[in-house]
Amino acid sequence: MALSAPEIWSRLLERARHELPEQTYRTWLEPTEALALDGDTIIVGTPDRFAAEWNESKHAHVLASLAPVVLGHPISVVFKVDEERKTKPQMDLFVAPPPEPAPPADAEPSNITGQLSARYTFQNFVIGKSNELAAAAAQAVAAAPGKVYNPLFIYGHTGLGKTHLMQAVAHDIIQRAPRTRVCFVGTEQFTNELVAAIQKRSTPEFRRRYRETDLLLVDDVHFLKGKEAVQEEFFHTFNALYEAGRQIILTSDRLPSEIPGLEDRLISRFQWGMVADIGLPDLEHRIAILRNKARLDHLELTIPDDVIYFIAENVRSSVRELEGSIIRLLAYASLKHQDVTVELAHEALRDKLRSNGSHAPEPSTGLTPQVIQQAVAKEWGVTTDGLRSKSRTKHLTVPRQVAMYLIRDLLGLQLVEIGSAFGGRDHSTVIHSLEKVEETLKADPAFAQRVKAVRATLEKLQH
Ligand code: ADP
Ligand code: MG
Repeated sequence: MALSAPEIWSRLLERARHELPEQTYRTWLEPTEALALDGDTIIVGTPDRFAAEWNESKHAHVLASLAPVVLGHPISVVFKVDEERKTKPQMDLFVAPPPEPAPPADAEPSNITGQLSARYTFQNFVIGKSNELAAAAAQAVAAAPGKVYNPLFIYGHTGLGKTHLMQAVAHDIIQRAPRTRVCFVGTEQFTNELVAAIQKRSTPEFRRRYRETDLLLVDDVHFLKGKEAVQEEFFHTFNALYEAGRQIILTSDRLPSEIPGLEDRLISRFQWGMVADIGLPDLEHRIAILRNKARLDHLELTIPDDVIYFIAENVRSSVRELEGSIIRLLAYASLKHQDVTVELAHEALRDKLRSNGSHAPEPSTGLTPQVIQQAVAKEWGVTTDGLRSKSRTKHLTVPRQVAMYLIRDLLGLQLVEIGSAFGGRDHSTVIHSLEKVEETLKADPAFAQRVKAVRATLEKLQH
């Protein structure tokens, strides 16, 4: 029996989800809808022109190429604006972030795939002056684990790529030797597990887990400061692995000798191999990182070069901030239904620009009660007019209460101010709404998840 357009589309999407980065999928393909089937062509509706053109140029080809595998016959994909949806007054392109971290889509044979981020590979790591030593050391370690630099100690400020680089070594080794036993752990997790093991008298299992591994990655060892029992355990783990010729990689926000309260014997061990720092990327490096990021997320056409340059010049504090700027800019553009331009970047990144001490335009907050109402309306599939109306039907009262709650929480407005944003309700109604939401958040995890997702999207506009 022939499949219907929605069936075909959902099969293609399911597959595309594995092929494209999660964020790309959610931003561009999730808000689409199959409209019709015309011979061997499927016509897919998008919320607006921008999305239609963008999907057409970026994804139509990829989707069509999946058809023979998924459907057993070729099909072409055409995107057009879904006029019906366009008439809806709310923001159609507003994209909520994933409610929870995406499950790893790749199929690494190692048992630790879940602990590593699939994106943190050497291939995705852009090398520049600030990190070339650390990157070269990491590559040398990946090529000859346990042989050249043991341990490899990478240090630098937060958000500069330490975790990324450390995991890149693991990915690289696993790719060549899938049976390698790898253990990646944050220092805090190591600490918590040890404390739990002592309580449950299961330290032998704990030790086995960390000592029967070929590659041990311990992230953020500066958190070892002052914890004697943990340092003791760590010391023995270190020795056991080191003596067995297994590779150890550590990261920290400072040099071993500068970690206060770290025992001398650990300081000296941390310095046995190679200590390499990662510094702040320079302008050229920042541009390369942004370009790479745009390429990975299939955003080359969405983010023009002058915008990349603008961000690179103005956001200097860390790579994480650079990435955050892009995410925020895209959310802002889709919220406003505007193309990504330098002007829009100015507006979207106002706060970041200001904190960087550069000449920013007039301050004003990106987040307003109206924006919050729009986001909630979108999530609950109602209109903002409905939210502000007096109607008491349940499909409006629930999102209305959520919007009040988020306005209070994110903007800290007075009760009366909130009331007036909802067509002049009095403060007792607002109080009741806030209480109701708080109750439901505790009782209903699905509801809590939904509220959390909307909040996360809004928070991106706030910082
Ligand atoms: P740290 O562990 O030093 O705090 P992370 O490794 O978590 O930093 O990096 C923060 C973000 O920046 C990650 O998303 C990472 O992929 C990205 N990143 C950092 N350095 C680079 C780089 N040189 N090339 C590409 N992405 C990078
Ligand atoms: Mg880190």
